[in-house]
Amino acid sequence: MPTFDCPTCEKILTVAKREDAPFRPFCCERCKQVDLGKWLDGTYCISEPIAPDELPEDV
Ligand SMILES: [Zn+2]
Repeated sequence: MPTFDCPTCEKILTVAKREDAPFRPFCCERCKQVDLGKWLDGTYCISEPIAPDELPEDV
């Protein structure tokens, strides 16, 4: 019987067959989304300030 542990909640899951775990290696869709969110946090946290020379200069 295939077993795997969910990287998000660390729950160990046992399934009768691989097809029974559509969110593998996660136990459920929520855990999958949580993990995805972690990746996005790390990737998109850099917010670039607008460079002064990109502003229009007609004063
Ligand atoms: Zn989980």
